[in-house]
Amino acid sequence: MQQASEMLIKSAQVVVTMDDQRRELNGADIRVQNGQIAEIGTNLQSDGEVILAAGCVVTPGLVNTHHHLYQTLTRAVPGGQNALLFGWLKTLYPIWSGFGPEEMNISAQIGLAELALSGCTLTSDHLYLYPNGSRLDDTIDAAKEVGMRFHPTRGAMSIGESDGGLPPDALVEQEAAILEDTIRVIDAHHDASDGAMVRVGVAPCSPFSVSRDLMRDAAILARDKGVMLHTHLAENDEDVAYSLETFGCRPGQYAEDLGWTGDDVWHAHCVKLDGQEIDLFARSRTGVAHCPCSNCRLGSGIAPVRDMRDAGVPVGLGVDGSASNDVGNLMAEARQAMLLQRVSRGADAMSAREALEIATRGGAEVLGRSDCGQIAVGKRADIAIWDVSGVEAAGSWDPAALLLAGPTQVKHLLVEGRQVVRDGQMATIDLPRVIERQNTLAQGLMI
Ligand SMILES: [Zn+2]
Repeated sequence: MQQASEMLIKSAQVVVTMDDQRRELNGADIRVQNGQIAEIGTNLQSDGEVILAAGCVVTPGLVNTHHHLYQTLTRAVPGGQNALLFGWLKTLYPIWSGFGPEEMNISAQIGLAELALSGCTLTSDHLYLYPNGSRLDDTIDAAKEVGMRFHPTRGAMSIGESDGGLPPDALVEQEAAILEDTIRVIDAHHDASDGAMVRVGVAPCSPFSVSRDLMRDAAILARDKGVMLHTHLAENDEDVAYSLETFGCRPGQYAEDLGWTGDDVWHAHCVKLDGQEIDLFARSRTGVAHCPCSNCRLGSGIAPVRDMRDAGVPVGLGVDGSASNDVGNLMAEARQAMLLQRVSRGADAMSAREALEIATRGGAEVLGRSDCGQIAVGKRADIAIWDVSGVEAAGSWDPAALLLAGPTQVKHLLVEGRQVVRDGQMATIDLPRVIERQNTLAQGLMI
């Protein structure tokens, strides 16, 4: 990918580094070279482009650990607005059956742009249905166009309605074909190296949409290829009841039995993990993608994030699909995470700085990216620059205002040292044109 070889971020009001000492540096400069942070200090010099950051708070780029980018085409669908998870899915499956490669590509571009504008530099995605010739590659192409660091996961569903599953038969695949295509996309796109822009994961949709065999085979394949594993787990009471009835055990036990614990695994939601399951996740370093807005939107409950963090479970944030949020703003998600813990545990349950930490280095840890998530020399130059001179943060006394007040959109965003957002606008894609195309495609899907 093209990148500016050198860039200087100059005179930030404060740099919230999220480094190992959690330093916050007033009036600091950051020099970026070849996609990495080369130097942090004052009065730095550079021959490269200069970004003036006076009046700005500078943070690491935020990390999104759970999304279904294709769903940006199906926001606020009337039949699903007030349904619980299973009813919501049943409303949307027939609409998603009409998707093809262009729908996947355009919706991914929109979802990625929305994330970038809200400060996100690294996102995972979970694509688990492939109708009408769609491929994971359609979304990888979108991420390259947008310039986002991307961890797509090859999702899958194999148990259709006729086998007692939730999705219509037309949306499920044969398990042998799933594994074959998973190997294909890993071999074609996965990059294990430091600073990688694309890493592929393996991600059967959920324990209620694939067989036990596929869950186990997916874990074996991921370990063989050295890639990560991802799925939905313990999202709500229905989900836990399904596990008890079908598998005779709680979701955590099911995951452990099939090889779905470890520092190369992360599970979305985990709203209903009990104390033993939290201990299991902490012991095994199994990660959690916490999706507070989706959990509110689908009435799933409040994930025990305070208990998870206290026990040592790696926790990151996820906006989840735009059909169950329906927003893809990651800074707003961090604010929601902070507020939701306070609803259940009191005003001191989560500070603004802890929420920002979960949104940055927390997410990077969950995705296995020790090279991202903080502003420190040698880390990747994934940097969000927030203008706090405007109305949202006026009168604020502290950078915590980013979460307590605003703004929730960036002024500038760098990914791998390349400017993806410039002066609040996408610098890499023609966003109005993509939105126009998205609206046309959405019209065509209405049933
Ligand atoms: Zn999800």
